[in-house]
Amino acid sequence: MNRKPEDLIPELQQHRRVILGHEPTPIDRLTRLGQDLGIELWVKRDDCNGLAFGGNKVRQLEYYLGPGVEKNADTVLITGALQSNFVRLTAAAAAKLGWQAHVQLEERVPSDDQLYRKSGNIFLNNLLGAEISYFPEGEDEAGADRALDDRAEQLKSQGRRPYVIHLGLGSPPYGGLGYIRAAAETYAQVIELGNKPDYIVVPSGSGLTHAGFLVGARAIGWDVPIIGICVRRDQKSQTDRIRQRSNELAHMISRPGIITDQDIIISDKTLSPGYGKMNQPVKEAIEKTAQLEAILLDPVYTARTMAGLIDKVRTDAIPQGAKVLFIHTGGNPAIFAYQNAIESFS
Ligand SMILES: *Cc1c(COP(=O)(O)O)cnc(C)c1O
Repeated sequence: MNRKPEDLIPELQQHRRVILGHEPTPIDRLTRLGQDLGIELWVKRDDCNGLAFGGNKVRQLEYYLGPGVEKNADTVLITGALQSNFVRLTAAAAAKLGWQAHVQLEERVPSDDQLYRKSGNIFLNNLLGAEISYFPEGEDEAGADRALDDRAEQLKSQGRRPYVIHLGLGSPPYGGLGYIRAAAETYAQVIELGNKPDYIVVPSGSGLTHAGFLVGARAIGWDVPIIGICVRRDQKSQTDRIRQRSNELAHMISRPGIITDQDIIISDKTLSPGYGKMNQPVKEAIEKTAQLEAILLDPVYTARTMAGLIDKVRTDAIPQGAKVLFIHTGGNPAIFAYQNAIESFS
């Protein structure tokens, strides 16, 4: 019997959700890549959840936009990096809901690569009808947030009902509820398959996927180790971030104290030289996964996470023969924007 997330975690019903994607997403066996690595490898296909190329931000937006619907918004604002998947999926969600999207793109990685500046997610933002503004490089995160709030005020004075998605640590992590839900969904699936993983591997960026999955798993008494792979910050600052976000999310489902420090497992071994930058393990992960499984990984998030998984296997932190579930969080459009960076790396 396949149980619904709300049956396993009834407290999810305290939070307003807007349905944007398909669930449950499939879980597939990766036989050839698993054989190559000496493990039993499975993948949770959150890249296949239906909305405009999909990805983990679909689940997160279902809960970010819930409060917006409650406030009767008709316009959504978000700020992010040029090739942000979150921005693209916010534009997609707005199109589906009949809202306007105002997206602010931050020039975080100065680059004159025309594919990076025009293709991938940027092309899609335009197709989806988002209003785009640019925020100059060299200014801080708080500055980008202020610029977005100013824009919202302006829109209000023109009669719109704006709703701003704030992603900073000072704002509630609504999106993490989507991964609490995903953990319950995954648990029901692996029980049905009769095959529970020994390890789960997730990317750890803003931390809402990682912290949400962890809180969801522990809330239903599932003690599987969940390994977060750093995509942006080093191990120490990411550990603090996951601790904070996990505590907040545990409160949001009325289960304070369910996450202990032993639950938080983080590796930054494949992060160097930094966010969005190619390295040899990332290149190997992209090629191996494409050529052995026809599964596409992007260099910023999913390939770095697969590189982290491969590193854990090669250093025996994940033993030979173990059952491992990799969470594929999407990002597919970014591979076109990074085409030059991927092809020229050697
Ligand atoms: C945003 C993103 C991540 C990181 O998820 P967080 O919840 O921010 O940690 C991973 N993969 C893809 C494709 C993303 O777009």
